[in-house]
Amino acid sequence: MQDSLQKFMFEHAGVRGELVEISNTWQQILSRQNYPQAVKTILGELTAASALLSANLKFDGTMIMQIHGDGPLKLLVVECNDKLHIRATAKLAPDAVISDDATLADLIHAHGQGRFVITLDPNDKLPGQQAYQGIVPIDGDSIAVIIENYMMRSEQLDTKLWLAADDTVARGMLLQKLPKHGGIESTVEDEAEAWNRAVVLGSTLKQDELLTTDIETLLHRLFWEETIRVFEPQHPEFHCNCTREKVGDMLRMLGETEINTAVEELGKLDIHCDFCGKHYGFDKVDCAQLFVANTLVEATSIVSQSKH
Ligand SMILES: [Zn+2]
Repeated sequence: MQDSLQKFMFEHAGVRGELVEISNTWQQILSRQNYPQAVKTILGELTAASALLSANLKFDGTMIMQIHGDGPLKLLVVECNDKLHIRATAKLAPDAVISDDATLADLIHAHGQGRFVITLDPNDKLPGQQAYQGIVPIDGDSIAVIIENYMMRSEQLDTKLWLAADDTVARGMLLQKLPKHGGIESTVEDEAEAWNRAVVLGSTLKQDELLTTDIETLLHRLFWEETIRVFEPQHPEFHCNCTREKVGDMLRMLGETEINTAVEELGKLDIHCDFCGKHYGFDKVDCAQLFVANTLVEATSIVSQSKH
């Protein structure tokens, strides 16, 4: 079974929706590390939310959601691009003890210092162009509410989210009021009413129903009385874009002295990717080469400068 994201639209109502079911991808994310249950829930919900929001990206690129927690959960990262290629990981504080019923605040905002950042990173950035970053205030007790508030404030878009995740699946639903609906006869009141109606219907969805029901059934069960236009489904997939070159760049940024000391001590650096689990080994020769290349470039530029 492929993972699926289903977009739909309420005819004559100016409301759009999406349902997403992430199972294969979610299994691959979970296979890297043994997370406590409460962490699985929040990482899964964030993964579903990231697919729902990325499906409406207006550019080719990646949406990166990052939460830097101040409690037992130090970091959550979910990346999803316009093709719905997803990777995600979480990092716990050393010796973190996390109970199954830990709340979102317990995990990431225990001292009011948690930070949630959404970055939109286009593929075709011009040299020097920065990715767009938005700070998402942690002002709700669930990922859904926090993102709903953020969408309202940053995009002025009425958005409702339902998210759920367990050991096998992450599912989510999004409803969004379209900013300008073209219908000549529809008034502001009509549109507000249509939006309210969609939200009332959506709100009959219960958490365990979302966890246990496939999205095709959910779509029918929730909105069977509405005239709904359904689009071709899209298919989220796990994909990690780590490479040996990127790891090399990261090591280079740490500095030659730092790396030499480390490789001297350990004999070999074994860097592993938190997203996909791939290992990259750098022995003394590899490490030396990281910096030789730099020296060569510098030497070349000195030579070319001295020619003038
Ligand atoms: Zn990787």
